[in-house]
Amino acid sequence: MPSEAADMGTNEASSGLLTSIIEASTDAIVSWDLDGVVTSWNPGAERLYSIPKGDAVGQHIHIIIPSERAGELEVVMELVRKGKRVEHFETTHVCRGGRLAEVSLTVAPLVDETEKVVGAASIARDLTDSKVLVDRLADKTRALERMNAELEQFAHVVAHDLREPLRMVTCFTQLLSDHYDGQLDERAQRYISHASGAARRMGELLAGLLEYSHLDRLEATEMVPLDRVVDAVISDYSVTLAEEQASISRDPLPAVYANEAAVRLVFQNLIENALKYRGDAAPEVHVSAKQASDHWEFTVQDNGIGIEKEYHDRIFGMFQRLWERERYPGTGAGLAIVKKVVERCGGRIWVESEPGEGAGFHFTMPRHAD
Ligand code: ADP
Repeated sequence: MPSEAADMGTNEASSGLLTSIIEASTDAIVSWDLDGVVTSWNPGAERLYSIPKGDAVGQHIHIIIPSERAGELEVVMELVRKGKRVEHFETTHVCRGGRLAEVSLTVAPLVDETEKVVGAASIARDLTDSKVLVDRLADKTRALERMNAELEQFAHVVAHDLREPLRMVTCFTQLLSDHYDGQLDERAQRYISHASGAARRMGELLAGLLEYSHLDRLEATEMVPLDRVVDAVISDYSVTLAEEQASISRDPLPAVYANEAAVRLVFQNLIENALKYRGDAAPEVHVSAKQASDHWEFTVQDNGIGIEKEYHDRIFGMFQRLWERERYPGTGAGLAIVKKVVERCGGRIWVESEPGEGAGFHFTMPRHAD
């Protein structure tokens, strides 16, 4: 009959397709009957267990089950007999030569035309490599965290302990200048002035380093309303704003889960830079917030001198500056501090800018459901 013949054709085609999928699979696909005798074994199983099909079919499925896990197989077979599947459970299989393989296993009942359970089929995915990689990555992460903590500690100790001898240098150059007032020639006075200028500068650098290493102590503890933080920063700069005829505006800003002192440092540094790196026009700064699915994106936009593209990454490094101090004062610690705070909050930061076109500092912070 034509329709039966057509059905048979379709069945044959789909069973052929299934066979090629099983043959091509990188997973080990194996079946066995209710007595546990292996009835099929694909090339993926040959690879995973290093056992050729000819050596496996007809053997008991116990050849890949470690003896201490025999009970596990019984439980699985109990479920299979009841027509149930067992999905993605992690277990250990044994391969030729006793090598063990971590696998994620799915076992399903095999039924005949009358829907009677006649055996089981399993798909095993080799987890050994990914497990090794995950373990290695975890080791590396731990080592990096340890090194990072040591470095932070080192930076803190250096910055802290150098301040005392620095105070002595400052103090004695001052004494030298006071004590020999009027007796020193112009060159000697110039030397003293260079020495005290350098000591002052070193003090500023150490203060930046110390502030950077202190950030670790500023743990996120609460939802911080950023509109309050930004308003406080704006009010700190009210004198500069009046002097420079500058203006700062902001959108309504959300609250983020953070440390208030730390996020204040972010806005303080970005706003200070936006005012400092001004062009000829009166500085105009705008702080905005944009909501994405799982984070906020904040922008501090200015109309200042801008930054060439090749420096867009470098400026976030510690003590990295693009201008001489006489032109724009600073230590180069500000953006490193901002970056560290943002990253500790789980966000990232970048700049979009062209020389002469102003700069937009963008950073993200995770959204919390309060
Ligand atoms: P500092 O301002 O103390 O030099 P920062 O770490 O805050 O240090 O900034 C690093 C460098 O990035 C600055 O020296 C400056 O060249 C550049 N920069 C930062 N903010 C801006 C800005 N808004 N516009 C133009 N250049 C900027």
